[in-house]
Order: sequence, then structure tokens, then C-alpha cells
Amino acid sequence: MVLADLGRKLNAALSALNRAPVVDEKVLDATLKEVTSALLESDKVKAKVKAVLEGGGDKGKDVNKKNMLQKAVFDELVALVDPGVEPYKPKKGQPNIIMAVGLQGNGKTTTCTKLAVYYQKRGFKSAIVCADTFRAGAFDQTRQSATKAKVAYFGSYTETDPVSIAAQGVAKFKKERFDVIIVDTSGRHKQESELFEEMVQIGEAVRPNMTVLILDASIGQAAEAQSRAFKEAADFGAIIVTKMDGHAKGGGAISAVAATKTPIIFLGVGEHLHDLDRFSPQPFISKLLGLGDMQGLMEHMQDLATQNPDKQKEMAKKLEEGKLSIRDWREQISNVMNMGPISKIASMIPGLPQELLQGSDEEGSNRLKRMIYITDSMTASELDSDGGPFMEVGKDGKPTGLTWRVTRVAKGSGTTVREVEELLCQYRMMANMAKNAGGKNGWFQAMQKMQ
Ligand code: GDP
Repeated sequence: MVLADLGRKLNAALSALNRAPVVDEKVLDATLKEVTSALLESDKVKAKVKAVLEGGGDKGKDVNKKNMLQKAVFDELVALVDPGVEPYKPKKGQPNIIMAVGLQGNGKTTTCTKLAVYYQKRGFKSAIVCADTFRAGAFDQTRQSATKAKVAYFGSYTETDPVSIAAQGVAKFKKERFDVIIVDTSGRHKQESELFEEMVQIGEAVRPNMTVLILDASIGQAAEAQSRAFKEAADFGAIIVTKMDGHAKGGGAISAVAATKTPIIFLGVGEHLHDLDRFSPQPFISKLLGLGDMQGLMEHMQDLATQNPDKQKEMAKKLEEGKLSIRDWREQISNVMNMGPISKIASMIPGLPQELLQGSDEEGSNRLKRMIYITDSMTASELDSDGGPFMEVGKDGKPTGLTWRVTRVAKGSGTTVREVEELLCQYRMMANMAKNAGGKNGWFQAMQKMQ
């Protein structure tokens, strides 16, 4: 099993599970097979899935089983993407040399400028050295973007030896007491071996404190081999995944982390100078699995807060306390519907199925509308609940809530029982995430500390 396929495979397995009208042993077995093979037969996940299976055949708890399974997969992926290694942190009052490596087109030059801007904003005097003499126009690109970013730069139109340029540039900026000196290297050569040889030589000449591998989010299956090859030549200590604003979700980057035991430190999220986000495992995996991006959602909520401060404050508090009702979730969906292109926003809403992101914005928005119609057919007490009424079981242990309530809502909204069940399942996932986030060690806290 190629690690790069992980995200896609897991997603497929989990959507199949979500689509199943009843989660019985057969369905769980099939998912177990998919998920475990995708997770390289991870014993931890196997044990968790087994526990879910042994939890009995109570149909009323199907949604719960889905959640438990989802959480087991989620936790495992978070662990996978977090190699437990601390990346280098630049220190003030000394030169911190960062060397960027990666194949041409992955966004290396753009990311060098973004990094310089990032550190400059935090009080580090930053500069860029363009040591790419192979690509015509490389220095021009650095010059233009560095000028735009108001960052110092060094390069040459005449010197052809990249090692010499790198050494000269670093020496100059060290002398001028720059704090962060970023060396941009070439990403292509006539021969691959020449590229790696050049990297080794530049590394020896500038002695970087941190080497960063720049990877395109859409790398897919090639990630493992490519990152191993770079690790051997450049022994990078951090990874930056670029173009996370596009359709690719960066699943391949997980294999790069796993194969090289190196942390991801930033994500490139656009073509502009400020489009660089600090990496954090939970939101990354949430997005990969189609669980939404809580942090992004929070940020958008903050934007909304300026329009309706009291209401949004209340909502943020509920999110933090993990007390989100179906009605609150519905409100978030309709807020988001008013916020512009669905393709950009929808991926942030936890629990929205991947299918929503496919097709045109109009189609996406119609799908969101269907979700709203479903909630429109719920009673006030159902809306204000955490989904509890739908989980009701009768005296005989049969899941009454899931049958008559769901059927009623489906009829009322002109949708299907399956759609209503899916919506409930997605809401549950989202509510659980909010709850976990509210806990002492939840990532909401982690996120807050980060900012
Ligand atoms: P290099 O060859 O590795 O130095 O790549 P460049 O920095 O020249 O980038 C290649 C292309 O990718 C350019 O068109 C960049 O604008 C674009 N790019 C780089 N990073 C990002 C990103 O995070 N998001 C998007 N959408 N485009 C990016």
C-alpha cells in the first residue's frame, strides 16, 4: 500500500460507511478491512475498531459507531502526521540560515519570500539569497517578489556557480547582521544526480540551521520516493506543503512525513506573500478527511462577528463549550451560504461531505440548501437538541427515534431517509469535534495558544 493514497482511501472507506443505512457487522467488517489496509495495518486502529465492533449490535447506536470509527482513524492520522520532532526555531541576535530545496514548480521561490515576510513580521531582519543559476529568470523572480515584500535579496546575473553565490550572499547578510537568511536553491538540472550534488555542496558552503523541503500538495504517490531522495542529499529538518488552497488536500505529504520522520511546519495557501499558515495536525487531517477546518471556520466566524457581535460571541462560546445544537449548526451553514463561493467556504464546514465540493458553485449551494430544508422539517425541540431525540430507543430497545423521526423529516423536506441520516451523522461528527476542542487538551486550546 502506497502511503500517498492514504487520505483518498480512508475517505472512500468512511464515505461508504456513512452511506450505509445500517451499520452492521458486515459493513463494519468491510470498513475495517479498507481502513486498516490504508493505515498500514496499524495495531492501534485495529484494536479501536474491534472495540467498536464488540460494542454490540444496537442499531440505535449506529451513528455513535460511525463516530468512534471516524475518531479512531482521525487520531491515527494525526499521530502519523506528527513525527514528534520539534522543528528548528530561529533565534534572535544570531544568523539563522534556512535552505529551501524541492523540485521546480513546487513553489520554492514563492515560499522563500513568504517565509522572509513571515519572519520579518515577527521582528527578524530577513533576506533571501537566490542560488538557482540553472533556471533562466530565477533571480528576476526573486528580485521582483523580494522587492514587493520589502525584503533584502542577493543574487547574480553573471555568476554561474550557485555554490559561490550562496556563500557570498550568506557572508554578506551575516556581516550586515541579518537574523534570517533564506537560501533558495535550484529545483531542476540536466541530470538528477547533478541537482543533488549541487544541494550537498551548497549545504556544505552555507551550513544551514534548517533545510526545508518544499512539496506541492498534489504530489500524491511520488511523495514517498521524492522525500526520501531529498532527505538523503539534503537532510531537511522541516517540510512546507504548498498549494493547499487548490483541490489537492495534501494527503501525499503524510507519506513524506512518515517516510522521513520530519515535521510539516507551514502550509502555502495561495499565491500572495501572506498566504502562509502555520501547520497544525488536527485541522489538516480534518480537511483531508472532509471533516472541515474548524480553525478556518472560527476565523470566518470572527469576520461575521463584526456584523453581529453578540450573536457570534454566543456561538463561539457554544463551540468552545462543545454545546452546539442542530439549530446552531444550521445557522452556521446558512451564514456560510451568504459568505461567497461555496467551493472555498464549504471545505471549512466540519462534516460536510466531499461530494458537496464537486461540481459548480451553484450545485454546491443547492446541496447546502437541501441540508437547510432537512433542518427546516425538524421540530423546535429536535433543533435545540444535540441529536438526542433521534437516538431514542423504545422499551424493547428498538431505535424509535431513528425510524419515525427520520422518516417524518425526510418526508417533510422532500429528501430521503439516507440524506437525513447523513446530516445527523455529520452534525454529530462536528459536535464531537467541538466538544473535544473544548476539552482541556483539545486543539481549540492549542489553536489559541498558537495565535
Ligand atoms: P519553484 O519553481 O519551486 O520556485 O516554484 P514557484 O515559486 O515559481 O511557484 C510555481 C507556481 O506555483 C507559481 O505560479 C506560484 O505562484 C504558484 N504557487 C506557489 N505557492 C503556491 C500556493 O501556496 N498556492 C497557489 N495557489 N499557488 C502557489
